[in-house]
This record gives sequence, structure tokens and C-alpha cells, in this order.
Amino acid sequence: MPSRADAEALDGDDPLAPYRDRFVIDNVGDTNVIYADGNSLGRLPKAARDALHHAIDTEWGKGLIGSWDRWIDLPQRTGDLIGTAILGAREGQTIVADSTTVNFYKLAVAALRARPDGAVLTDEANFPTNRFVLQGLDRAIHLLPPDPTVDDVRAGIAAANGPVALVTLSHVAYRSGARLDIEGITRAAHDAGALVLWDLSHSAGAIAVDLADTGADMAVGCTYKYLNAGPGAPAFLYVRADLHDELRQPIQGWFGALDQFAMAPSYEPASGIARFMSGTPTVLALTAVEAGARITAEAGIHPIAAKAAALTDFVIAAADDALAPLGFDVATPREPNERGAHVALRHDDAWRICRVLVERFGVVVDFREPDIVRVGLAPLYSRYVDAWDAIDRTREAVAQGAHHDMPEERRRIT
Ligand SMILES: *Cc1c(COP(=O)(O)O)cnc(C)c1O
Repeated sequence: MPSRADAEALDGDDPLAPYRDRFVIDNVGDTNVIYADGNSLGRLPKAARDALHHAIDTEWGKGLIGSWDRWIDLPQRTGDLIGTAILGAREGQTIVADSTTVNFYKLAVAALRARPDGAVLTDEANFPTNRFVLQGLDRAIHLLPPDPTVDDVRAGIAAANGPVALVTLSHVAYRSGARLDIEGITRAAHDAGALVLWDLSHSAGAIAVDLADTGADMAVGCTYKYLNAGPGAPAFLYVRADLHDELRQPIQGWFGALDQFAMAPSYEPASGIARFMSGTPTVLALTAVEAGARITAEAGIHPIAAKAAALTDFVIAAADDALAPLGFDVATPREPNERGAHVALRHDDAWRICRVLVERFGVVVDFREPDIVRVGLAPLYSRYVDAWDAIDRTREAVAQGAHHDMPEERRRIT
């Protein structure tokens, strides 16, 4: 096990260390709690809190309807910020609107309309909302093995035994943390004439994506995870520029219409990325998205990605030494380029270990069925000493058998 002094030295050399102070660090009044769930809900940026106060008191409270002059461009403005500074997209291809689920639905339907014949390929371990939306689309679904490689995708295309309309996967798996070969898989799908839709929920703000270079057709993803935009914040949606005219999404609202205030008798889609919008944007939530994304843009996605690789390396090395003898094994790939920013630790008693860590040892991790403890130390505000303490407290809890006191029953939220 690396020593705690090693961790302190790494923190001393960390160029992102000053960013911790840009966030509210106060877990129910306890600053000693280690927050290792930034992959699920990011911390509150002080700037987001201030921007929300301003949006409420001044823009809404005093400006009322006149504030729409400032609000109307929020989906595009925030989309371009996330797209160009964080995802490696070009301008005018990303917007922030609706939830990841709804955006996924809009783009999956748009893809299937553009490819009226052919199956959908996804993997059996994909995030449930993605699989459930696909199941509602009345199209044959072929399931790939979890964390598919390019070869798995090519084999899946061959096994579909006919046209493939859409390949859709999560870039970084929410459970294992495995990162897929976005470029290779996109190429394999294109070779088969299929469109590709990526879910970047666990990539955005954690690792570099370079979307423009991947050739990806479409992407969606959350802003409340590593982009720190707050609970239920709207999601981003990306469509490659040359597909804007070809694709028609199903929720044809006035915000996606050609001349919104013409109040025309029938729908004509707007040109460009705006046609993928539907209704009125959630202004307050978008205000927080803009503030959260700005911090990530300012820190730079490449330094963040480098720290994600180093922090997860540190967690894996510490877990190998301190936790493997207690029945844990690391379920996340060991090659940094093959993973995102969280580490999945497998243990037969994962659920009870999770509960005892949260309730008694001040380590906020989460559990994913059937046997995974996720350690998600978001690079912008997590320290190497947090990683060290999280693993050490886990070792202590399990060595004592403290988790045996916890109930087996799952809670509503795991
Ligand atoms: C978190 C997550 C979602 C969540 O979608 P919502 O519509 O915000 O509930 C979707 N996809 C993936 C891969 C996720 O990790």
C-alpha cells in the first residue's frame, strides 16, 4: 500500500489542487467525510450557487419576462461550451436540453427513421434507461457482451444477419468503468452502414473524448455527474453537422421549429442543432450547468483526464495491496486508457460494505448490482489523501467485520 505521505506528496504536486476550493466541501456539516460519488452527483460549485442566486433574485425576481433575452440562448451557449471545451466537438453541434433519457429517445428515433430497416446493437450491461428506451422502439435488438471490443461489435454485426440501423453504447460503462474504443467501434458501425449513438454520461468532464475526431454521429450525456451541474440538471446532445438536415427527431416542439414566434400552422424544423430542441428550456437548471461546465473548461479537460488516470491508478494500487486479501478484486481495466474516472471494486458482500462505509466510516461510495462498490473520486475536487483514506477506511471496516451489522435488504436508492 502506498503510504499516506505518498498521497500528500502527490497532492502537493497536483496542478488541479486549487480547484477544490471552488466547491462547497461540507457533507452534512462534516468536512471529514470522503465523497467518492462524484460519478453519480457532482459537488456544488460555489459559482453555481452564486449564479443561481443571481438568476432567482435578479433575472427572475426583477427582470421577469425581459430576462428571456439572456435566457433564450442558454441551450446553445451552454452546449457550445461543453461541446468545444470539454467534448472536443466543433461549434454548433451540441445543445443542452431535456434529460439524457429524453435526448437518447429523440436521437435513437431520429436514427431509426433515417435507417428504416435494420437492427439495433447495444450491450447487455448498458445503462438501464438506454436499454429500456430501445425496447420501446419496436425494432429488433441484438445484445453484445458487456464492455464490447471492436471485434465484439464486428461479430455482433455479422450475427445480426441483415442490416444494422444503429449501434449505441456507453463510452464508459457505469458499472465496470471500462472505456470502449469509440473510434474503432464508430468505424465498424459505419462500415456496416449503421449510425452510432454514444452515451457520454461517465466521460464528460472526466476524460478527453475528442468527439470531432472520432467520426461519431450522435451523443448524449449527463451534466450532473462530472460536470457538477446539480441534481436533475438537463443533459447535452450532440449531432455531427452533416447529419443535421437528414435527421428528424420525434418531439417536434416550438423551440426546435424554424421560426419559433411565427406561430406557424405546421412544423418546419429549424436548421442546425436547434432542431433537436423541443420545449422551453429549464432556465434555472441551465444556469447551474453553465457555471459547472465553466469550471471544467477553465481547468482544462486534459489536466482533468491526466488526474483521473493518476487517481484511479492510486486507488487500484492501494486496493490491490490493502483490499485484495479481504476478498475484493478490481473490476475496472488496469490500463488507464481503457477506463473512465471511477474504480469498481467487486466483493461478495458489496452491499453491506457500501452501507457501513456510508453510515459509519464517512466514505460516500455507491453500490451497483450485484456485487460492485463504486469509488468515484472526481478529479476536480478529490485529493490523493481522499483516495488513501477511502481505501484505508474500507480495509478497517471489512477487517473488523463491521459490515456484518448492516441489513441485507436493499434501500430504495443504492
Ligand atoms: C446516469 C446515466 C443516465 C441518466 O439518465 P437520466 O435521463 O439523467 O436519468 C443515462 N445514461 C447513462 C449511461 C448514465 O450513466
